Amino acid sequence: MPKKGDGAKEAVFGLSVDIAEGKKAEEWPRFVAQLQAILNVLPAYTWYAAPSGALTFVNKRTADYLGVPQDHPLRFGIDTGAQWDDWIPLLHPDDHEESRQYWSNCLNTGEGGEHSYRVRSAQGDHRWFLTRFEPLRASDGALLLWLGATLDIEEFKRAEDGLRESEYKLRQIFETVPAFLWSTDPAGEPTHMNQRLLDYSGMRFEGFKRLGWEVLVHPDDFPETARAFYQAIHAGTPNQWVTRLRRADGEFRWHQFRIEPLRDQQGRIVQWYGVTVDVDEGKKAEERPRFEAQLRTILNVLPALTWYAPPSGGLTFVSKRQGDFLGLPKDHPLRFGIDIGVPWDAHIPFLHPDDQEKGRKYWSNSLRTGEGYEHSYRVRDAQGNYRWLLTRTEPLRASDGTLQLWVGATLDIEELMRAEEGLRESEAKFRDYAETASDWFWEIGPDYKFTLLTENAFGSYAADRMGTGCWDHALDLETEPEKWRLIQATLDSRKPFRDFVYSSARRNGSPIYVKASGKPVFDAEGEFRGYRGTGTDVTALMRAQAERERLRQLESDLAHMNRLSVMGELTASLAHEITQPVAAARNNARAAMHFLDRNPPDLGEIREALASIVGDADRAGNIVDRIRDQIKKAPPRKHLFDLNEAINELILLAGSAVTENGVSVRTRLAEGLSPVEGDRVQLQQVVLNLILNAVEAMSTLQAGPREMSISTEQAQTGGVLVSVRDSGPGIDPDNLDRVFEAFYTTKSSGVGMGLSICRSIIDAHRGHLWADTNEPRGAVFQFILPTAEQEVTNSFPEAQQARERHEDTV
Ligand code: ADP
Repeated sequence: MPKKGDGAKEAVFGLSVDIAEGKKAEEWPRFVAQLQAILNVLPAYTWYAAPSGALTFVNKRTADYLGVPQDHPLRFGIDTGAQWDDWIPLLHPDDHEESRQYWSNCLNTGEGGEHSYRVRSAQGDHRWFLTRFEPLRASDGALLLWLGATLDIEEFKRAEDGLRESEYKLRQIFETVPAFLWSTDPAGEPTHMNQRLLDYSGMRFEGFKRLGWEVLVHPDDFPETARAFYQAIHAGTPNQWVTRLRRADGEFRWHQFRIEPLRDQQGRIVQWYGVTVDVDEGKKAEERPRFEAQLRTILNVLPALTWYAPPSGGLTFVSKRQGDFLGLPKDHPLRFGIDIGVPWDAHIPFLHPDDQEKGRKYWSNSLRTGEGYEHSYRVRDAQGNYRWLLTRTEPLRASDGTLQLWVGATLDIEELMRAEEGLRESEAKFRDYAETASDWFWEIGPDYKFTLLTENAFGSYAADRMGTGCWDHALDLETEPEKWRLIQATLDSRKPFRDFVYSSARRNGSPIYVKASGKPVFDAEGEFRGYRGTGTDVTALMRAQAERERLRQLESDLAHMNRLSVMGELTASLAHEITQPVAAARNNARAAMHFLDRNPPDLGEIREALASIVGDADRAGNIVDRIRDQIKKAPPRKHLFDLNEAINELILLAGSAVTENGVSVRTRLAEGLSPVEGDRVQLQQVVLNLILNAVEAMSTLQAGPREMSISTEQAQTGGVLVSVRDSGPGIDPDNLDRVFEAFYTTKSSGVGMGLSICRSIIDAHRGHLWADTNEPRGAVFQFILPTAEQEVTNSFPEAQQARERHEDTV
């Protein structure tokens, strides 16, 4: 059922039922004619519109107002195919938008409505109209027409404007009163708040309507406020109460609320009016004693010695605990917060005489700056004993920042101080430990003679060295003069030095290795005063270093021995290698003699035979040279060389050992391989070891091919990769790394040093050597070496990567 425009609906409803039936009986034209006749006689502006909303008929009164010509189709309800909103231009431009929306909304919902707008008259002026319209429906609910009746409300509007003006004046008063004014509807729902209140709260009225008083009233006061407010609303009687309201900046101020009802002539409440005034100042003054009483209660129960004082500083209250500590009589006014006018420094005499000056300074400073402090001092207790107390004072300020009270809390830290003393003792102990640790401190004067040495210097008997020159006990002055010349120069040029290692004699004459660092000392005038620094006993370190050196030497000896034994293994094949060119030379010599015997001698052939002999001799000489290289004990040397060439040489050397064991060798040496830098003989030794190991491994095979392949290639990471593969029994995957351990061997006559030496040679070349299983059988030993260009940087990580990549691809 439509809610609005009841009058108009009643006027047409009776009609609608009959006529809707009539339409069914095809009496529509007659009905429309009747409708037009009725609308024309009604003392109102009437109209109807098609279900689409298009205005199709206006009665005579309306048409005349609008100035529609006498023969206009609107006067006769003739459908001209107008649009639903074609009539909007008849309205005042300011009302177009709203009216269009209102109308379209009604068309959508199918419900009638009531709406006011200004309509242009035939004379071109505008008057206010209130239109009411309703849908006219057939009994089956189908929309037949929109029927409207419109009243001229221009006079009302004028009156309303006058009202508005007087309301404006009232409102101005409303806003200028120095109080918060507000109103609510009879149920207490806010209807208005003056700007002053909105400004105070920093809210907008809409927000306030949504959130209610709760957002403004102090949470502690809210229950009481709500009770007082609704009591008034329900009883219909005025009320008043006091509550704290939050200001936009967050501060709460006390306000007094008064609420009064406004009644109509029948005595019904139409509005509630409220006045709220700021009573903060008065309220706070009144509150102070209450606040202090509360504070005293709290301070009395705190497990600390507490007190408060007015801004001027003289104590007015001490808690029970504090009173007892000081031994104040039970009825002393300070225990009750009664101001007896003590001076600001009245408490100072209670402090330990040594702490009084400091205590006075702290307190007077706080009173001056208004800032709290934390300070510890000794205070005399009731028994006359001094105890350490830590006191903290804080200024208590009002919301406007004015200082109200000084509040202090004091903790008895006597126990803590005792513990600290213990700590200090243990710290001293640690200092002693530090002094007995291996590092020591020293100082020398401008003459380089010791002026200070901590007790542990040079192991013991430090005092013996005081006043002696720092090199007086050195043992390596003669053996390492250069080192001492340099340090002397450093000292003379007053430069700091670091980690200078030398050996010195202990009291019993045994050597101690010392590592010293120091820096020059200058006095305020910039005058050189000597050096100061630290020393460390590095004897153990130096011994370890010497031991390492010895081991390295041992390893090198071992490597040499290994080489000799490898060469021993090769002797048979080497003998064979050498006899070959020797035998060839012999044959060539014979041939030469034979050509000499001819008549005339064949000089061309003789020359050729002699050239061959020279070649044979060179070959033999080369082999001997290489053997000598391999067995010579020379220190490792570094130079650039072609790895492929070195490997080819080796294959020649190992040639007969290989063939004797029925092994076929395949070489795949990459062309244009980057040269490597290192010790050629050592690296050849590695490859030779790998080759002989492979041959040995395959010689145990009863059946199957004995194939070895030796290859070189440029590794992806830039180094050179060398692989020696065999088709022997291979290595158990668990032992792939163990074979490199020293003395690991599976051979009855083996020593197990070969691979271990190989690995240390490759490591020394910043490369990496590893073993793997070969496909389909056998073992593969590979090593990667950085090339000469890579040598600059540490290429080991790359070798590692190459290895990992290699493992991935295998
Ligand atoms: P040795 O040859 O004196 O045993 P190595 O250090 O050269 O010492 O080798 C250690 C062990 O590694 C060998 O005893 C052998 O078990 C294993 N090994 C070395 N090379 C191969 C290979 N090509 N195939 C199978 N096992 C091998």
